[in-house]
Formats: sequence, C-alpha cells, structure tokens
Amino acid sequence: MVTRALDVVLLGPPGAGKGTQARRLAEAFVLLHISTGDLLRDEVARGTAPGLEAKAFMNRGELVPDEVVGRMLLRQLHSQQASVGCVYDGYPRTTAQAHLLDGLLAELNRRIDVALFLDVPDEELVTRMAGRRSCPACGSVYHLTAHPPKDGANCDGCGSGLVLRDDDHDGAIRERLRVYKAATAPLLDLYRGRGILREIAGTGTPDQVHGRLRDGMRSVKR
Ligand code: ADP
Ligand code: ZN
Repeated sequence: MVTRALDVVLLGPPGAGKGTQARRLAEAFVLLHISTGDLLRDEVARGTAPGLEAKAFMNRGELVPDEVVGRMLLRQLHSQQASVGCVYDGYPRTTAQAHLLDGLLAELNRRIDVALFLDVPDEELVTRMAGRRSCPACGSVYHLTAHPPKDGANCDGCGSGLVLRDDDHDGAIRERLRVYKAATAPLLDLYRGRGILREIAGTGTPDQVHGRLRDGMRSVKR
C-alpha cells in the first residue's frame, strides 16, 4: 500500500498536554514528533549557541525569536525521518511561523492536513503546569497528583531524577498564557478558515484525550 506523508499540527495553550499527546499520536500514526520546546530545551542543556540565545526568553515565558526556532524546524523537516510526515507540537506559535511552515511544506509538495486544537480551561492549565515534573533524560512528563512516577521522584522509564521545568514557575506560567492568547490563539481562525481545524476537549484522562484526537484524525485520508 502506498502511503503519503501526513502533517498534523497540534495546537493548544501551554499545559494543555500537547507533549504527551503528540508523542502518542506520532507513535500511533508512525509520524515524526517535532517539539520545538523539546528541541530548544535540548539546545539549552547542551549549551549550544542557539541554546544560549533561547534560554532567557524561555525562562521568562516569552517566545524565542522566529529565526532561531525556524532553523531548528527546517533541520527536522529535512531529516530522513520526516519524510513519512510529522506531528508539530509547539509550532507554529505565530502567524509568521505558520506561513514559514506552509512554505516549507509546499516545497515538499505537502501541506498541513489537519490542525488539532486541545482545549483546556485556564484554571486547569495553571494547576497542571505547577504540578508538572519532567524527565531531563528521556523527556517523559509526569504530574505530582494526576500521573505520579511509581517511586514518587524518578522516571519510570529511565530512572533519572525528575525536575520542574525552568518555565513552570508562577511568573513564567502567567506570561506563557498571555503570549499564547496574544500570538498563538489567532492561528485557530487561520486553520478554521481552511476547514482543517478540529476542536478537541483536552480534559479527562490522557487515554480519553488520545481517543478524541484519533477521532479528530478520521477525516484525514492517507
Ligand atoms: P508549553 O507549550 O507548555 O509552553 P513548550 O515546551 O512547547 O511548552 O515551549 C516552551 C518554551 O519554548 C516556550 O515558552 C517558548 O519560550 C519556547 N518555544 C517553543 N516553541 C516555540 C516556537 N515555535 N516559537 C518560539 N518559541 C518557542
Ligand atoms: Zn526518563
């Protein structure tokens, strides 16, 4: 059977569960998961030039400049693994980024097939982010009450000590929500206008949300 590349944008406010769901979706549909947040955190951890440039913006909850993020996206999109298609998690976050992604995909004779919007109320976002703990080694995400690691402190998968992300403290959380509303939420109208937006309730268990996202993918033919 011949399959074509599928390109899926996962949209939603910070703390909506994009990372967890994007991984599962990528696995289920055999797509490359591109998380610009994970890529940036990796650059920061390795102390690279883009990492040094990005770090202060991230810790304040602001957006990293488009050129820095755009270069990372381009590298991923042109990788061998991206030829089957991708789940974009945390990209695009601005109208300019949305246009860049459209242009890069057009060069590959591809386009965004569907944009899945994970909708979660503001009050819940703050609780989720403050209780979030992440594995610095493998990127797995936990929550102190909703999804605690088995031994209370270390990653179930690889055993590394879990950490609070540098941008999951109060001030940065509020700034990320503000930036989301100002810069990213307008993208909903862009994709709605193209008829490719699917709105998904992001509340409930990760399994429930995953099921709804799969339903949202039903309109997409491969
Ligand atoms: P969240 O969606 O929970 O805010 P991410 O891991 O997607 O978390 O992003 C963390 C931070 O990384 C953002 O607050 C921002 O500083 C930076 N970042 C990630 N993706 C982008 C992007 N596409 N453009 C600009 N900055 C980005
Ligand atoms: Zn781990």
